[in-house]
Amino acid sequence: ERGRLGRLRHTPAVTLDGQKVELLANIELPEDAEAALRAGAVGVGLFRSEFLFMGREGRMPDEEEQYLAYRKAVEGMQGLPVTIRTVDVGADKPLDETRRYDTHLNPALGLRAIRWSLSEPEMFRTQLRAILRAAAHGKVNLLVPMLAHGTEIRQTLSLIDFARAELDNRGVAYGPVSIGAMIEIPAAALQVRTFLRYFDYLSIGTNDLIQYTLAIDRADESVAHLYDPCHPAVLGLVAGTIAECRRQGKPVSVCGEMAGDTQFTRLLIGLGLRSFSMHPAQILAVKQEVLRADATRLEGWARDVVASEDPAQALAG
Ligand code: PEP
Ligand code: MG
Repeated sequence: ERGRLGRLRHTPAVTLDGQKVELLANIELPEDAEAALRAGAVGVGLFRSEFLFMGREGRMPDEEEQYLAYRKAVEGMQGLPVTIRTVDVGADKPLDETRRYDTHLNPALGLRAIRWSLSEPEMFRTQLRAILRAAAHGKVNLLVPMLAHGTEIRQTLSLIDFARAELDNRGVAYGPVSIGAMIEIPAAALQVRTFLRYFDYLSIGTNDLIQYTLAIDRADESVAHLYDPCHPAVLGLVAGTIAECRRQGKPVSVCGEMAGDTQFTRLLIGLGLRSFSMHPAQILAVKQEVLRADATRLEGWARDVVASEDPAQALAG
């Protein structure tokens, strides 16, 4: 199986009816770019930058260290685009073990991701400057996790402007970036049109979107049986987000686990998705599904699956 899939590495991901599909890699460290290329990824769709921040007893990586790490990922991808997500610590990704228990009652609902970044504006601007500088070495997309409020959007964008101005003042080179938001909170999925007024592209984080839509802690085993990507409400939010982006001609991808699960490849293609980001090890199996899919014929079926009372059964049937 591995050998057979391996031969697909250099085969472009195109459906039977000629629709191009972008298969990207999720990475945690710059070194992972190598595995991404080996798997045939056409870029990095999610670089989880928090892994540079974790396990350091709260000492943050400085601008230079971050710049070198992001640049290494960008150069490692040899000209292919790299989406760098700003730090997403908190909840299941504590900064360090000593802080793991030093949190509030519901850490997933607390100060995590962009909320934490906005509460530490100097740290955040340091990261933004490092990302902007790395963008001088290749195509970089900047991605912001966990946004829900218009005020958070505007604060984030003004800090990006501020970071650019700081680099201008210092006379340091930086490059252009596309700026995108993750859709991982139901409030965001229900406000896609507002998000599209501000952002160049969107990326759907289904891991958190499922957690927050169903009120199921993604790390709590006692409720893991209720963590259901096929819940009609979850699929409705995913479908609606993709549809609105397509209506407006803005890029949209899925970077949660759903993107790498072959059970969902045909459904997501039928819903109009043309960009998937996943663990490198999943890329070839998903590509095989793409090559067998007829996107036009899947459209009506995908709509029916999402509208059905039991999508899991409709998917299997
Ligand atoms: C997600 O929530 O789907 C996602 C991709 O982000 P993370 O898993 O890092 O929270
Ligand atoms: Mg997430």
